[in-house]
Amino acid sequence: MHVEKWDKCLSFIKEHIPEQSFNTWFTPVIPIRLEGQILTIQVPSQFFYEWLEENYVHILHEAVNLVIGPNGKIEYSVIMDNGSEANQPYTVNVGGNSGGFNKTRVNGYDKYKNPHFMQELARDSNLNPNYQFDNYIEGDCNRLARSAGFAVSKKPGITSFNPFMVYGGVGLGKTHLIQAIGNEIKRKHPEKYVFYVSSEKFTNQFIDALKSNSLQEFIAYYRNVDVLMLDDVQFLKDKEKTQEIFFHIFNHLHQSGKQIIMTSDRSPKDLSGLQERLVSRFKWGLTADIQKPDFETRIAIIKKKLQADGILITDQIIEYLAYSVNTNIRELEGVIISMIAHASLTNVEVDLELAKTILKNIVADIDSEVSIDYIQKTVGEFFNISIDDLKAKTRKKEIVIARQVAMHFAKDYTNHSLKSIGYHFGGRDHSTVIYALQSVSDMIDANSKFKYSIEELRKKLKLKNS
Ligand code: ADP
Ligand code: MG
Repeated sequence: MHVEKWDKCLSFIKEHIPEQSFNTWFTPVIPIRLEGQILTIQVPSQFFYEWLEENYVHILHEAVNLVIGPNGKIEYSVIMDNGSEANQPYTVNVGGNSGGFNKTRVNGYDKYKNPHFMQELARDSNLNPNYQFDNYIEGDCNRLARSAGFAVSKKPGITSFNPFMVYGGVGLGKTHLIQAIGNEIKRKHPEKYVFYVSSEKFTNQFIDALKSNSLQEFIAYYRNVDVLMLDDVQFLKDKEKTQEIFFHIFNHLHQSGKQIIMTSDRSPKDLSGLQERLVSRFKWGLTADIQKPDFETRIAIIKKKLQADGILITDQIIEYLAYSVNTNIRELEGVIISMIAHASLTNVEVDLELAKTILKNIVADIDSEVSIDYIQKTVGEFFNISIDDLKAKTRKKEIVIARQVAMHFAKDYTNHSLKSIGYHFGGRDHSTVIYALQSVSDMIDANSKFKYSIEELRKKLKLKNS
């Protein structure tokens, strides 16, 4: 009898919700009994029950109304499915068609002791106090993200930047920025509970919670946060269950006006392996990207870091670094830190040679000594021609020569392919580069003054001791 009734409910529900959702949320449900007008159904977990309650309560009411009648009610029996003392199923009653509904805990999880992950979390924000706005250098590369982040820190949950999503490549300052937001919020709104977590840790906590049957506490914990920062959401790729739970938490927080901040290494539209509905949530607020820092910003970052450590390094070296490490701020920092370590351990002043050696040892993908940028700068200065001109379409003779010389050094001293070299000189074709190399070698043979210039430049670049 109860099975029949439930089947009828199911066919009604099935017609009204997407098949995927139906399979996920309704096929695991087992009808247990029908007592009077109360149909008891068994669900696999507390989370499951909550999910149904939050998302499908109306459709359930309608179904019950139709199948059992206006006084029909559904009662849940939730399975606690591991060998703990709370092992017996307990029930939660949910009213039928009354709109609001009562939940009665018969044998609740209240008895549950704090699971270990909660003790571990305590009310710690997980923030690194070194990540602040005032040591986060602003540049064209991060201006929007930074200022939006600052706005969020003033009014968490209230601006339209909710969720606030920052994306950009590795080592470009995403974590620093969102933690700066977190630190700022704690300062301005000490009553708010700010919580930072990496997506990896979130996933592990979730798995732990599943294993220790404390999913409920896990969810309750996250629902209690005022500002949730989830770092590197791309990590959730293909982790269906974790995405599911995050979606659940996300909705709850968002509806309660809590701030959500996330980072990702790519833009939401490129986040494959994430459920569409989750990605579409990400787009609700503001998405801001962080780009690679330009030269001036790199200089400013280096100076800031050195200043923080009270180390004096010449502008020449700072420029050299800024030219050579042009991809990633983390690498740039690595170089600075080693230099500082060197300087303080050996009491030796950091000169350009030392800087180059350190650079070579640290930055794995710069296995040549200098970058194309640095070559362009040095060659440009030598011939008194701007870098822009080196990259421009101009065919003025002296510019063409300087450009060809720079290409020649780029070929000799970097590992860039001809194609890539061409690309760095205003998007020229690789055959243009071949032609340049040939011209330079011809001129060296034919013109001793030119040959001398090349040797001077070589020394300037201090690239070869031969
Ligand atoms: P991501 O999370 O994007 O991989 P991080 O936030 O970990 O990058 O940044 C890498 C390092 O670079 C950090 O030590 C950070 O302090 C530093 N950094 C990044 N951007 C800036 C910036 N704009 N100003 C100062 N330091 C920065
Ligand atoms: Mg990061």
